[in-house]
Amino acid sequence: MARVFNFSAGPSVLPEVVLKQCAEDMMDYKGSGMSVMEMSHRSKVYDNIIKEAEQDLRDLLEIPDNYKVLFLQGGASQQFAAVPLNLMKNGVADYIITGQWAKKAYEEAQKYGKANAIASSADKTFSYIPDCSDLPISEDADYVHICHNNTIYGTTFKELPNTKGKILVADMSSDILSQPVNVSDYGMIYFGVQKNVGPAGVVIAIIREDLIRDDVNPATPTMLKYKTQADNDSLYNTPPCYGIYVCGLVFKWVKEMGGLAAMKVHNEKKAAILYDFLDSSKMFKGTVEKKDRSLMNVPFVTGNDELDAKFVKEATAAGFVNLKGHRSVGGMRASIYNAMPIEGVEKLVQFMKDFEAANA
Ligand SMILES: *Cc1c(COP(=O)(O)O)cnc(C)c1O
Repeated sequence: MARVFNFSAGPSVLPEVVLKQCAEDMMDYKGSGMSVMEMSHRSKVYDNIIKEAEQDLRDLLEIPDNYKVLFLQGGASQQFAAVPLNLMKNGVADYIITGQWAKKAYEEAQKYGKANAIASSADKTFSYIPDCSDLPISEDADYVHICHNNTIYGTTFKELPNTKGKILVADMSSDILSQPVNVSDYGMIYFGVQKNVGPAGVVIAIIREDLIRDDVNPATPTMLKYKTQADNDSLYNTPPCYGIYVCGLVFKWVKEMGGLAAMKVHNEKKAAILYDFLDSSKMFKGTVEKKDRSLMNVPFVTGNDELDAKFVKEATAAGFVNLKGHRSVGGMRASIYNAMPIEGVEKLVQFMKDFEAANA
């Protein structure tokens, strides 16, 4: 068995102990005589799986009792529609555009009401987070939407925007569980799990109960209505059972690692190794403003497309895979999610040093 160091932005690396547990449980989950893929979502054994997953997530994020946790499908992209359909009461929402995902969320919301782009960093290819301390928040905005960590560009909000009392909604697909979150700062948090939590096919929404309403946009599909899902404990129809089970295993792993405060220390350590090298290298450069650097996604370039391509090719051959930057940015990007061991980052930096010496 040869495992690589997988720097993919998503779907991405999962903890090896979790994968081994999946293998162990595959043929016979806890004496049920079947795999989790094969069992009824209405069975007692599955009920335990989904309930335990929810409780572990609640423990990790210290989710207050007045928030519901919903296990959904359709990815984060489906939430770009579900959020305005469910949360627009006045038909108005403000969006902060810090990258492609934020922009997609904004564009989708325009279908269902008046979405305002109140700040943007498009002028410098989303290489920074705009000052959000005094934005022109709309008087009648139902919420303010942010993408908390910009997966493609490698920026993150270190400070939350001043929403002037409006509800904050955040896409945390690429940084949930990387550090503690004060859930009550938000009306709603959602994340596709395939970056930092589990296999693609599950999206989790954490939503304040008073925002779960019956009088949503009448065009809202039954499946996209949060009330449908909340009233049925995420079992209105067949949920992505196996994916939720794997998420549950990852939640237990994060707990064993010491929870979110420990994850933050672990992630800061890893990111510092890479950023310190980028800041000292004559060949490789980070592409975003230092103050806004992500702990999870680290884009970098040499400034020479051919050299970038040579680097990616040689890195791949050496077992450092999926380092090619997003097609819209070029260069390289190392995604160093929770499950990336420190050793992976140390070895990558050593490889970069050797490459720099050989190609200087
Ligand atoms: C990957 C990603 C998405 C898209 O997720 P899907 O589950 O593929 O729809 C949205 N937002 C962010 C921040 C992402 O990283």
